[in-house]
Amino acid sequence: MKQPRILVIGAGPAGISCAHHLATQGHRVTVWDRNSRVGGLARTENFQGFRFDVGPHRFFTKNDMVDELWTEMAGEDLVEVDRLTRILYDGKLFRYPLKPFDALVGLGLGTSTKAVLSYMAAQFSQSTQQPAHFEEWVSNKFGAVLYEIFFKHYTEKVWGIPCSKISGDWATQRIRGLSLGSVILNSCLPFLNKSGNVKSLVDSFKYPKFGAGQTFERMAALTQVLDGTVCLNRTVTRLQCEGNRVVAVEATENGRSISEDVDFVFSSMPLATLVNKLHPSVPENIQNSARSLYYRDHLCVNLIIDKKVVFPDNWIYVHSPQMKCSRLTSYGNFSADMLGTPEMSAIAVEYFCFHYDDMWNADDTWLIKFAVDELESLGFITKNQVVDGYVCREPDSYPAYHLEYRGHVDSIREHLLKIENLSCIGRGGMYRYNNQDHAMLSGVLAARNYLGEDHDIWEVNVEDEYLEEKQLPTPVHAGQPGGNGRPNG
Ligand SMILES: Cc1cc2nc3c(=O)[nH]c(=O)nc-3n(C[C@H](O)[C@H](O)[C@H](O)COP(=O)(O)OP(=O)(O)OC[C@H]3O[C@@H](n4cnc5c(N)ncnc54)[C@H](O)[C@@H]3O)c2cc1C
Repeated sequence: MKQPRILVIGAGPAGISCAHHLATQGHRVTVWDRNSRVGGLARTENFQGFRFDVGPHRFFTKNDMVDELWTEMAGEDLVEVDRLTRILYDGKLFRYPLKPFDALVGLGLGTSTKAVLSYMAAQFSQSTQQPAHFEEWVSNKFGAVLYEIFFKHYTEKVWGIPCSKISGDWATQRIRGLSLGSVILNSCLPFLNKSGNVKSLVDSFKYPKFGAGQTFERMAALTQVLDGTVCLNRTVTRLQCEGNRVVAVEATENGRSISEDVDFVFSSMPLATLVNKLHPSVPENIQNSARSLYYRDHLCVNLIIDKKVVFPDNWIYVHSPQMKCSRLTSYGNFSADMLGTPEMSAIAVEYFCFHYDDMWNADDTWLIKFAVDELESLGFITKNQVVDGYVCREPDSYPAYHLEYRGHVDSIREHLLKIENLSCIGRGGMYRYNNQDHAMLSGVLAARNYLGEDHDIWEVNVEDEYLEEKQLPTPVHAGQPGGNGRPNG
């Protein structure tokens, strides 16, 4: 019997998990990706023997199936990393997740008093109305002073718009379920914590010793062993539809045009881009919805530094509004195998941009100099310690949760659900602020749907447990540090 032709667009965590699952079930599957490497946003690049992820990637999940799959793929190569992450604000470093004592000492008596008073005021003036936007959501929960210090500046760097223009959904998805009271209680008086069966995932984490992308490279290799095909440097340009079906997909590879007939398509390419690639064109209102969605783009200056310890952290959030960079990462603090030589460091300096702004379009030499100047002004390096560097630009990396996004995503989803052999998966593919685990889960569940199960992919990542904790079946007695649900990526 003729095998159905299954095409997966995108070899990131969602696409490759989907393809791998289908391959293990005996299906012949083909993956196309525009990049030259597998792993999407979670890939690892090798530059002169030093390895760089696309910004820091820490894997965690509350889903046992995804945990097992990821752990199995990483195999013997997992290392346990002790986590140290801090926030740089006003020249001071604060432990993150926040430790109340550390935060209060760092802020000084005056600011701490104001922070506590504004927190208490927020608790007393709780309104029953849904907060209109992110700023209101966080201020209502933590008070205006803590919002200003620990949320506003970083969030605005990430999204490039004022917090009053960001949907409260983003806070609900990333910060929900946490109260400052519980942070203080857990940190200072852990024995009073009644919900003792909560496991903290924040103190240490597992990491593939050759970088986040190693897991997905192995998954791709296994998919190919199981008769799957992974084609890189292949950019999808059109999905040709007839009635309610996609019948062929077109792409370009090194200037060459390719077209293949398909029976089923899984797409993890950005949702708005997918809509524009459908032919015949979708109705005007759906095109408008696609135009109303936009992504924040991500730019990383990756540097080899001739200094063994630039900072001890895995990464540092740079809140200081005077600095343009958002985060600094030292990959040697994830795994020694990320380094070409143990005497040097692999440092990433991250910037969030829009593809039309000056930063994104700046010359690489200028960007490297700019990042080095910022690192030097923070006192981490001197210019003469810089060995080499390169710039990594990643378009469409953060689906923007602006105030109207949800209605537009719903309209597009409703429209695409009518196409019976197309399934959207993953972060950009579903316009969802997903991490690796949710991206993988959406890919596997979509594959299972294809095989006859019935899962609502759009419900993935709609949980109400705090993201950095996991409910355990049996009580444990250790206390756990708090946090404020800051995004990983
Ligand atoms: C800076 C940063 C830090 C992060 N940190 C963490 C973290 O600490 N922990 C965590 O779990 N997650 C983190 N993430 C999120 C994680 O990287 C994503 O959740 C995950 O990669 C999403 O997988 P995906 O397959 O859905 O999408 P992607 O990884 O975006 O993969 C989509 C793939 O589709 C391909 N594609 C797009 N358009 C086309 C086209 N036209 N034709 C062919 N191929 C196409 C792309 O090249 C890409 O490979 C971070 C992300 C970023 C950007």
